[in-house]
Amino acid sequence: MILKNVGKYYGEKAALKNIDLTFEEGKITAVLGENGAGKTTLLRILAGMLPYEGEIDGKSGKNPKRRVGCSYLFQDCMLLPNLTAEGNCKFVLSKEVWGKIGEMLARVGLGGRENALPHELSGGEKQRVAIARAFLFPHDLLLMDEPFSSLDLAIKRSLISLVYELWQERGSTVVFVTHEVREAALLAHRALVLKHGEIVLDLPINAPFPRDFLSPPKEETLLTQTLL
Ligand code: ATP
Repeated sequence: MILKNVGKYYGEKAALKNIDLTFEEGKITAVLGENGAGKTTLLRILAGMLPYEGEIDGKSGKNPKRRVGCSYLFQDCMLLPNLTAEGNCKFVLSKEVWGKIGEMLARVGLGGRENALPHELSGGEKQRVAIARAFLFPHDLLLMDEPFSSLDLAIKRSLISLVYELWQERGSTVVFVTHEVREAALLAHRALVLKHGEIVLDLPINAPFPRDFLSPPKEETLLTQTLL
């Protein structure tokens, strides 16, 4: 995906401006930045959910269409309250994929909870349903908005490994938003830091995988410094 001079304006306010970027296919990019920096706006533009100024892959953003082959994990899980964990997956997935739901729920640590309703699940468990569903949705581009934010450390660590495993299996392009430099350092080939809608750091993270949760790549320090 090639972004040329991409911007998003609400009246005078720029949520995103002058974004010139190329997302290399099959790589994982983390997007960081303070509250209101434009991270979600960038994801939504990549998904074709928001009109924008400029061009993506040569196309103007005046009347965008939802990108085909794009799975989007929303910040607030978006589970329907009257459907079970399995039902919430089925609701957005085609029947051909239904047979894989049980296995994926088990991979995110929810084996045996297929029939739980959202109100019977903790915040982190709901998030895991949303992660399972996003992984199962057929995609070559996976966009995730703070996928690990309300998870405890042990689950976060295992789900970061799982995202990496799934990425290895599929080779999709992954872009995820996070506030945690450790998540970016462990999972991404590249980290972008946004500030007031502009990119202030575009950092390759070249450390080999699998990366160690307890001794992350040295790039983590520069990310932290940029965010402070
Ligand atoms: P957070 O970390 O808090 O989720 P973010 O980096 O994802 O923040 P965005 O949601 O992309 O930030 O918002 C970027 C800016 O655009 C913010 O200042 C926000 O208030 C503004 N904004 C977003 N949506 C709208 C809208 N519909 N109307 C007006 N301003 C908006």
